[in-house]
Amino acid sequence: MTRSAPDSCPGVLRLHQAADGPLARIRVPGGRLESAQLQVLADAARDLGNGNLELTSRGNIQVRQVRDASELALRLGAAGLLPSETHERVRNIVASPLSGRIGGFADVQGLAVGLDAGLLADPRLGDLPGRVLFTLDDGRGDVSTLHGDIGIHAIGDDEFALLLAGADTGLRVTAGEAVDVMLDAARGFLDLRGTGDTGQWRLHEIPGGVESVIEALDRSPAGAPLELGAAHDIPIGWLDQDNGLVTLGAGVPLGTLSARTTEFLAAIEQPVFVTPWRSLVIPDLAEGPAETVVRVLAPMGLIFDAASPWLQVSACAGRPGCAKSLTDVRADLTAAIESDRVLPENPDAPTEDALLPAEEVTVAGRQHWSGCDRRCGRPQGPVTDVVATEHGYRSNH
Ligand code: SF4
Repeated sequence: MTRSAPDSCPGVLRLHQAADGPLARIRVPGGRLESAQLQVLADAARDLGNGNLELTSRGNIQVRQVRDASELALRLGAAGLLPSETHERVRNIVASPLSGRIGGFADVQGLAVGLDAGLLADPRLGDLPGRVLFTLDDGRGDVSTLHGDIGIHAIGDDEFALLLAGADTGLRVTAGEAVDVMLDAARGFLDLRGTGDTGQWRLHEIPGGVESVIEALDRSPAGAPLELGAAHDIPIGWLDQDNGLVTLGAGVPLGTLSARTTEFLAAIEQPVFVTPWRSLVIPDLAEGPAETVVRVLAPMGLIFDAASPWLQVSACAGRPGCAKSLTDVRADLTAAIESDRVLPENPDAPTEDALLPAEEVTVAGRQHWSGCDRRCGRPQGPVTDVVATEHGYRSNH
């Protein structure tokens, strides 16, 4: 596939002109935000945006209706959230959010920091398209399933499978080699993709691309390629860490976090991790503070109950943020949840297509609602599509 349009991924320095105003996307490598950064984001959302932060499917953060882009860049720069003007859009690094605290074969959080530093240190890697995704999976299989371009997947405490285009290559690296090999793979992708803004955006789009990058790495396969699983559980609720402390997993309805809730998160004075599943992970809490966090943040809308219907659903931006949308998808989906029309998974649910007005749509199990056929933000795996048409919503199982 040859692209005819430049990669238009937004950043902080290049805003997307959405239907409801300019939109900024802030990269959060490894999903980790310090409490001071959370406070800066809360203030920015309130002072310069629409009062909310949006969590993305890559664990990044968006501010909508940006009123003063220069001031936003200034504030984020001072908070360490915009460390480079040339590389800001290439820092798409997702790491297993529970890594080093609960389960997994290896701690990949430090590798995420090292990979980010390595990207920033190489001027040429600033030319990577903003769509390239790096995944660092500690072996539990949570982020490898995101089908990144370049990634590692732990198979022991010091052994990682190298993934390209979302699949295992059979190449194996140690923790000490992992960052350098991923950076070399990124350079190999740049060599292949062609020059300028119109080259391919993703490794899987280049015929023979994976094989060419493997050849450029000049390493011999050391194992049979792993079959990577397709499903995993989102970390939600009270999770006991291996060291006796507690991690809280909190779902964020439709990925929209208000400035006020963000301020309360900052007040916990612990790092918070943004996950690629529109949720948060708050680690390293003693039991008492963890109970307080749930008591305060659950009434503010964060989800600590793994059975919540909010965790089954996702939606595109819809109206008013997207000019293509036929309706306000998020309002329709919220109404469906509030009137108990989002049902638990049910293998016996009818599977025929239906065309229904918004107030009659009733769907069981994981579902993604979209304002048009493009189905932006649709998650991987088995999901029922609920798509707006001129004549109501159509649901496809
Ligand atoms: S799915 Fe359609 S309506 Fe929704 S954000 Fe994408 S283009 Fe807009």
